[in-house]
Amino acid sequence: MTPLPPGSTIGILGGGQLGRMLAVAAAQLGYSTRVLAPDEEAVAAQTASSFTRADYQSRIVLDDFAAAADVVTYEFENIALDPITYLATQLPVHPGALSLATAQDRAAEKSFVGDLGGRTAPWRLVTSIEALHAAVAAIGLPAILKTLRMGYDGKGQVRITTPDDVDSAWDSIGGRPAILEGFVEFSHEFSIILARGQDGSMVSYPPPWNEHVDGILARSSLPAPVEIARQWGEAAALTGRIAEQLGHVGVLACEFFVGADGPVFNEMAPRVHNSGHWTIEGAVTSQFENHIRAICGLPLGDTGLTAESVEMLNLIGEDANDALTYLGEHDAHLHLYGKSVRPGRKMGHVTRLVR
Ligand code: AMP
Repeated sequence: MTPLPPGSTIGILGGGQLGRMLAVAAAQLGYSTRVLAPDEEAVAAQTASSFTRADYQSRIVLDDFAAAADVVTYEFENIALDPITYLATQLPVHPGALSLATAQDRAAEKSFVGDLGGRTAPWRLVTSIEALHAAVAAIGLPAILKTLRMGYDGKGQVRITTPDDVDSAWDSIGGRPAILEGFVEFSHEFSIILARGQDGSMVSYPPPWNEHVDGILARSSLPAPVEIARQWGEAAALTGRIAEQLGHVGVLACEFFVGADGPVFNEMAPRVHNSGHWTIEGAVTSQFENHIRAICGLPLGDTGLTAESVEMLNLIGEDANDALTYLGEHDAHLHLYGKSVRPGRKMGHVTRLVR
């Protein structure tokens, strides 16, 4: 494994806060970054060395992007597969197309993990209203209908509680291909954030307890309560098997429920993850740095905690208006993403450490 020398250029597809924080980590290790994104307000452009505003479909744009970069990564999983496979013919793209294709499709993701011996909620693929009624009969209620693709932060999903809800649930997701998932009784949610290097070496972080409000992550905290600690080993081992089977290079995040019989896999993201933002100050090496290390062929860094306890709070929408008050707190670390305020938007986060 020959490391990419500092001074090289990392191409990042996607212009959001994850790209923004990846660019900071890359700069710290001496790399340049080039962001490609269609967004009018691409906040990653503020920290990257250069920015191209364009969509991902033009071959001319992709050729130019590839020519200017030494390795490519991406910061969100809803990018089309086609530009990734096209770029991969010209230069290394990490994580690879198999990771992206699997994580983009809830059915592919769940069957992949089930085949590896992972526990998932009972689920059925549904592509018609008749199939949805049959799936409800098989799985029972309550259940959750989730679009196959493009779901995140609770978007594209609807809960079905009574048989009367079935038709309206189908209409509310626009009759798109979906999975019906049985409702999991869980005490906590947590995530395993793992980095896998080009040589197959892996490191993973201690798992945060993740609390959601309205389907959006509100808080991640560590050390996790004992219910999570008991299921940590099994969940981390499964995440490692997933990364290996995918030939994944970079950070992989898997979300789990604490179920009665063990960890229940919910979903994966082939990228740095919101529930890992605490690692910037709360771990010896951040998830962003470990992602950059992995895709550049560098040795992975220590994932241990730097504090006795760590808490990350997301600043959503109007929360950002009072953000500066955190600066008065000892050992609180404020990150603002440079976005204009909109309700429900992830504007920044704060990490509090107790050492
Ligand atoms: P997702 O977009 O799949 O991460 O779902 C968003 C949130 O909905 C999760 O973090 C859970 O709080 C909840 N949720 C999703 N799937 C299930 C399920 N099968 N059973 C219970 N709660 C769920």
